[in-house]
Amino acid sequence: MTLSSSPQTHSSSVQQITVLGSTGSIGVSTLDVISRHPDRFAVFALTANTNAQRIFQQCVACRPAFAVMQDPASAVELSSLLREAKISTEVLSGTQAICDVAAHESVHTVMAAIVGGAGLLPTMSAVKTGKKVLLANKEALVMAGSIFMQAVNDSGAQLLPIDSEHNAIFQCLPRSESVRSGVRKILLTGSGGPLRGWSTEAIRVATPEQACAHPNWSMGRKISVDSASLMNKGLEFIEAKWLFDVSPSLIEVIIHPQSIVHSMVEYVDGSVLAQLGHPDMRTPIAHGLAYPDRVASGVSSLDIIAAARLDFEAPDIHNFPALQLAVDASKTGIGAATVLNAANEVAVDAFLSSQLSFGAMVDSLQWVMNKAVWQEPADLDAVIALDEYARSLTLQQIGSI
Ligand code: NAD
Ligand code: MG
Repeated sequence: MTLSSSPQTHSSSVQQITVLGSTGSIGVSTLDVISRHPDRFAVFALTANTNAQRIFQQCVACRPAFAVMQDPASAVELSSLLREAKISTEVLSGTQAICDVAAHESVHTVMAAIVGGAGLLPTMSAVKTGKKVLLANKEALVMAGSIFMQAVNDSGAQLLPIDSEHNAIFQCLPRSESVRSGVRKILLTGSGGPLRGWSTEAIRVATPEQACAHPNWSMGRKISVDSASLMNKGLEFIEAKWLFDVSPSLIEVIIHPQSIVHSMVEYVDGSVLAQLGHPDMRTPIAHGLAYPDRVASGVSSLDIIAAARLDFEAPDIHNFPALQLAVDASKTGIGAATVLNAANEVAVDAFLSSQLSFGAMVDSLQWVMNKAVWQEPADLDAVIALDEYARSLTLQQIGSI
């Protein structure tokens, strides 16, 4: 079946939403916020990789028109579960079908919450068809950079940041582009992750369980490892550069272990605006879904007296060199970011499957950045080819260890 990708028309005031990556951490939080506001939001389509059981439960709760599995065998499993339950959701499979439900003419809003480079084509499909795009999938923007932002401009898509730091920065920036000249600095905060304060030796042998035990946020395993290596902050640095169209020299990373301040914007008059809240992704998700309105997200009030302390410190570049690799890549160009992101995805996978130690995972990023040779990609096909090249180079290096 081919879904139409013609420009959308909206007769109803209820936002029809496609949730890409609905079975993940962001996907589940998104469905939680949507379920609180049936008068405003409805689920049009859900997508996932392999978790047929969880997406089935989500179909029971949301009754979407479509559910798409990346994996064909999981789509067969989901179809039979739905048939037995007499639920009429149509099941599709594969990347093209995921792109189609992101671009469907009945869809107003797309939550881009697939993890990693696998989210690039579906997210771009939503962007190119002019949707309201809620961007959690930072890797898509890191990989495609200016090509992604050009597509947003060309299609008139509305891009809203869901990453908590970028959502905070967006909330603290002036609405009008014309007064952006008053911005002196963007202060990108990060908790420092579960390995903050550990010795160099202990970090090098940290286990997947230790790396995924984030002190404040509950997240998928890939972003949890990225948080432990500070690569997540590095990817966010690149993400901020593109989203807010600022020079890397204006972005400063600050470690804030409590994760209460989600980022800040400093103005030339000395004012610093911050967005605060519990570390719960339902706040930025609700902000994006309802923007420019405000709706309840299920997140409780912040008890600032109980929080009591807000600490800030400089990042430890010596023990967490991945952050510097990403900052350097942001200054080099989109090719460098594509290569670093691809190498990181492969190395994180190898770390999570115990093929690499934590230290060797970060070393392999350094190795690939030194070894890889590329031309600046001019279009999406070139980004995808460069991504594949960097993945195979990283696999080669890992195989030779
Ligand atoms: P997760 O691993 O919990 O979920 C990932 C989702 O993507 C799942 O639904 C999975 O089925 C789907 N998926 C995975 N591989 C796929 C593939 N090859 N094809 C199609 N679908 C695939 O991840 P998460 O923590 O929800 O993160 C999702 C994205 O949001 C990431 O890019 C992450 O960086 C970003 N993000 C997450 C958080 C958070 O708190 N979890 C915060 C900020 C940004
Ligand atoms: Mg973040």
